[in-house]
Amino acid sequence: MDVYLEERIKVGISACMYGCKFRYNAKGWNQLEAIGRDASSFVWFPVCPEVNAGFGVPREAIKITGESGSAVWENAGKVMSGSGKNLSKALMNSSEACLNQLLSAGVSVYIYMEGSPSCGVYRTTLKNKRLGKPPGVFGHLLLENGFFLIPADELTSPVKWWDWRRRMLAFLWLKKQPLETKADLYNIWHVLKFLCQEIDEKWARALGKTLADSTVAEMGGLEAIRKSILDVLRLPSSPQKIKNRLWKHYSHYRKYTGKSIEGIKRPTELRNMTDLAEELLKMELGAMSADYLFGASPIINRKQKSKT
Ligand code: SF4
Repeated sequence: MDVYLEERIKVGISACMYGCKFRYNAKGWNQLEAIGRDASSFVWFPVCPEVNAGFGVPREAIKITGESGSAVWENAGKVMSGSGKNLSKALMNSSEACLNQLLSAGVSVYIYMEGSPSCGVYRTTLKNKRLGKPPGVFGHLLLENGFFLIPADELTSPVKWWDWRRRMLAFLWLKKQPLETKADLYNIWHVLKFLCQEIDEKWARALGKTLADSTVAEMGGLEAIRKSILDVLRLPSSPQKIKNRLWKHYSHYRKYTGKSIEGIKRPTELRNMTDLAEELLKMELGAMSADYLFGASPIINRKQKSKT
């Protein structure tokens, strides 16, 4: 089965994370510096709902009254400026315009500024701290429209970025696959099952059993299964699981191809996260050159430039 993505992948990004000094205090950061040459394998779509709403730079910080940005859409919350101006309508209109820009360009991945009352989605790094009352007003629309959402601050960790990138490729590949018969679903599952098992072993085993034992109608339809796999692909793995699976796949690769890849360590051997990311990239390259399906990172973006 073809596991390649040929096109340059389109990714939306909060403009202040793309280097534009668009924050209320005229700050901005180029988070893409952290991913080095990888950045050139994507087409970027920076958007800023607040600047697009005509709020200007610098401006007063906005805040949400009510539970979250979702409440603003339900008329149960407001977006207020520091001096008490109601900006709800302007930010909602602008958020819709930004969303439409992304959708009409065929973008379904977005890198967001965590903690923003506009672009924030959920807090993934600080437990119990709900900065910006997530999701933000724009974040709510991204969630509703099924975007693959990557927190910008995770681009600075080579292993986390590797994890986001491989799941994003699998997500985009799965969205495009024809799915008309159970045989199509089997073929898709053959490619994605190892990655899904790493993310959520219990769920993946149960799905494997359902595929073997149930009819399409009993499974709730093919598109329902596609959606549940897409949802699992949104969930992060962990460095420990990544290390364990790398070794497992590498051991199988050696048996299957009779080849070795220099520098891949056992899970128990100490190494820093940068070294682990390099091992993962080596494994991807080795698998690609041997035409071997590396189950932890099964989809290959031919536009990807190797950092090794
Ligand atoms: S977080 Fe979003 S709304 Fe705020 S400055 Fe960045 S791009 Fe603009």
